[in-house]
Amino acid sequence: MSETMKLVFERSVPGRIGFSLPEKDVPETNLEDIFSASYIRSEKADLPELSELEIMRHYTELSNHNFGVDSGFYPLGSCTMKYNPKINEKVARFPGFANIHPYQPESSVQGAMALLYDLQTSLVEITGMDEVTLQPAAGAQGEWTGLMLIRAYHEANGDTKRTKVIIPDSAHGTNPASATVAGFEVVTVKSNEKGLVDVEDLRTVVGDDTAALMLTNPNTLGLFEKDIVEIAEIIHAAGGKLYYDGANLNAIMSKVRPGDMGFDVVHLNLHKTFTGPHGGGGPGSGPIGIKKDLIPFLPTPVLTKEEGGYTFDYNYPQSIGRVKPYYGNFGINVRAYTYIRTMGPDGLKKVTEYAVLNANYMMRRLEKAFDLPFDQVCKHEFVLSGNRQKKLGVRTTDIAKRLLDHNFHPPTVYFPLIVEEAMMIEPTETESKETLDKFIDTMLQIAEEAENDPEIVQEAPHATYVKRLDETRAARKPVLRYQK
Ligand SMILES: *Cc1c(COP(=O)(O)O)cnc(C)c1O
Repeated sequence: MSETMKLVFERSVPGRIGFSLPEKDVPETNLEDIFSASYIRSEKADLPELSELEIMRHYTELSNHNFGVDSGFYPLGSCTMKYNPKINEKVARFPGFANIHPYQPESSVQGAMALLYDLQTSLVEITGMDEVTLQPAAGAQGEWTGLMLIRAYHEANGDTKRTKVIIPDSAHGTNPASATVAGFEVVTVKSNEKGLVDVEDLRTVVGDDTAALMLTNPNTLGLFEKDIVEIAEIIHAAGGKLYYDGANLNAIMSKVRPGDMGFDVVHLNLHKTFTGPHGGGGPGSGPIGIKKDLIPFLPTPVLTKEEGGYTFDYNYPQSIGRVKPYYGNFGINVRAYTYIRTMGPDGLKKVTEYAVLNANYMMRRLEKAFDLPFDQVCKHEFVLSGNRQKKLGVRTTDIAKRLLDHNFHPPTVYFPLIVEEAMMIEPTETESKETLDKFIDTMLQIAEEAENDPEIVQEAPHATYVKRLDETRAARKPVLRYQK
């Protein structure tokens, strides 16, 4: 075992301590007087004994084994791993934001409520919707909340036969999952040879049992659904609602708006497009924007502005109820607000332009060495296929592992499912041309290795702390506790 992989327990030296406490100045307590004997340890806890410096080195080393946007390029498609500006962190740590409590009287947190209200207003403008709620804590929860609103809307109209949600076969996995959890049956609509929703197939699956269509535009192939107006007409004519998965809004932000395309609900991932740090499992923020006729069903409380100031309105008798304790993940909303105010409308437009430019630049340079199943202008991301390399015995997994040797996080692989040996690459707008070129050159080098020296790719990674892991065993039989 390498020195850096040593666990704290193996570094322990009896008697060594990493803290100092002041002299005791209260009488000794007899534990038996307070707790029943069965709660009291008979032996000392077997904890590692280290100095403060040793424990600092241990955790600092562990943190270096981790990979993040701050340590390298992270082109994980559909995840928008862009840079998280540090000014966001500074603002989120302002004592007036960081130290308030959700149970404080409204009169004492008017500034925080003003920020949330302004954020809602900005998102209404950015999405082209009529109202926004900041409650959902993630993209998937936003999806579920939006679908519950659609469900409540149909039920309020006595339209109870609408049990189906139509979802394209290229959709993000959370879409069918959210629809199922919201109590709907999922119906799949096919993609055509251009990677877009097959409008003719859509006509055959839509009907008076359609509750909604869920769509990502651009879809997970990074392609803009240019028939969206026609698609919206088909769904609305059938009495259904349109749900927009807006997790990756930097493909279209400040250029077109879901509300104008005809969508009734949209969720945003503030922890993607709006620079909230993510990847570690949270906290996130997945606000939804909705059109007017869904407003009565909003989760409560609804943040409103009145003459005397901001207030939380609970008077929504048709509300689907609260979907998140308190009012959403406040800290991540502060970060998103800071980002929007830092960029301004022109800045947000540039974000989209560079995100799309970077993706197209990369796609055009990489198509020489890798298969490009859908050859057209992409938006924020694109999908390659490793089929050419597979014929040489090098799988997409191997290419992903080889990228680790060059300190790159791999792209999303084997997704979307409709592309064989898929590699879904999202460079994001925050990367420089030098970084893009370095990644492209590495990918071209790996393609060359696949032809001339396949073993080096098949056996990668060579330069990481651990070699190729048994991912199935790690998921099925994880060892999460120190074992002597
Ligand atoms: C990330 C993503 C989601 C899910 O968002 P979470 O915050 O991870 O729940 C949904 N749809 C698309 C297209 C995404 O990229």
